[in-house]
Amino acid sequence: MTFAELGLESRLLKGVEAMGYTSPTPIQHEAIPHALSGKDVVGCAQTGTGKTAAFILPILQSMSPDGGVKALVVTPTRELALQIEEVARSCARFTNHRTAAVFGGVGYEPQKKKIRHGVDLLVATPGRLLDLQRRGDVNLGKVEILVLDEADRMLDMGFWPDVRRILALLPAKRQNLLFSATMSPKVLSVIGDTLDDPTEVRVGRTATPVEAIEQKLYPVDGMQKGELLVELMQQRNLDRVLVFTRTKHRADRVCRTLSRSGIKAAPIHSNRSQSQRQKALDDFKQGRVRVLVATDIVARGIDVDNISHVINFDMPNNPEDYVHRIGRTARAGAEGTAFSFLGPDETDELRAIEGLINKVIECEDLEGFEYRMRYVPSESRTAKKVHKLAYNGGALSGRGRRRSRGGRRR
Ligand code: AMP
Repeated sequence: MTFAELGLESRLLKGVEAMGYTSPTPIQHEAIPHALSGKDVVGCAQTGTGKTAAFILPILQSMSPDGGVKALVVTPTRELALQIEEVARSCARFTNHRTAAVFGGVGYEPQKKKIRHGVDLLVATPGRLLDLQRRGDVNLGKVEILVLDEADRMLDMGFWPDVRRILALLPAKRQNLLFSATMSPKVLSVIGDTLDDPTEVRVGRTATPVEAIEQKLYPVDGMQKGELLVELMQQRNLDRVLVFTRTKHRADRVCRTLSRSGIKAAPIHSNRSQSQRQKALDDFKQGRVRVLVATDIVARGIDVDNISHVINFDMPNNPEDYVHRIGRTARAGAEGTAFSFLGPDETDELRAIEGLINKVIECEDLEGFEYRMRYVPSESRTAKKVHKLAYNGGALSGRGRRRSRGGRRR
């Protein structure tokens, strides 16, 4: 199947070709014809599947050409807003459409100016969009197509009241496209409220990690996680690594640990300013830093190609975040690896993750690493069963692992 066979016009086909896309990804193949038919569409697809172009291309084709904001994409984070706008700009390269992104954390003036000069496809985070609307800087009364991107995340982040306010400002007659990585009851209920008899397209099973990702578990005492990370980076010569921590504070600390060992790393979390976050992303993209250390909310929006490894320095509290995290590697068909450091107090999180993905993640030891204490999850555990931890005496190498005393420290 080619992009032309999906019904896209030649100006867009030229844009797609210039971006180096040769054939549509499954979500593009599924969603584009429905979206072009003018129907409301619900797309259930993880990030990394090509979902951005799946909604951008039909929008660019369907928007009417006269002035004003005709298409609005609402997305939870600034990073996502910037990335979506970048895809939109590239796809629109051979058309007359004008795109812009608006998001918080930066000055209003440049965004206002851009809108004043004429924008027909606007990508926005909810808070800033409402601010601009209240100040009279943007008119949403002509919107024909609305995209709610990462709807599950916007719900999790508490943005839905803002999204509802935005919906109230739009013409009632419009096309709605909603994308979400997961279809929780909350997402289903907002779909019921917001969309009109939508066609549902999904890629793969909901909340199943991308098949191409190799997943490994590294049981380790919490105090040794930093050392293990450094050793893993050095031994395996890892490059282009995305590390996740539970808190911003821990992200900063991990960066310092890596830097002390000569491994260039940058933090990316919501305590960093927009320009610091952008610089970290740019440095990572250009290869000036090998490791980005992120927290979940911000990381969700990172679109960097060729992330070789995702490392869960801390297990996520929310099992669905595991799926989102590891989805950052192995994008668009490339292979990737996800390592998770499992502390003795993180077994509940592991159990929830394994229950969600319906798979037991294999354990691995780092050869030669001086484990001071080791907690090894029972190998006989199954995804939904409680598994026991066995204290095995510490200071072990991968192979000659000795189990002793079934002691369990919680
Ligand atoms: P997304 O899921 O929209 O974040 O896209 C994930 C990555 O896949 C991005 O880096 C896109 O540039 C890339 N991509 C999207 N569509 C295609 C395609 N048809 N062929 C190759 N790469 C694509």
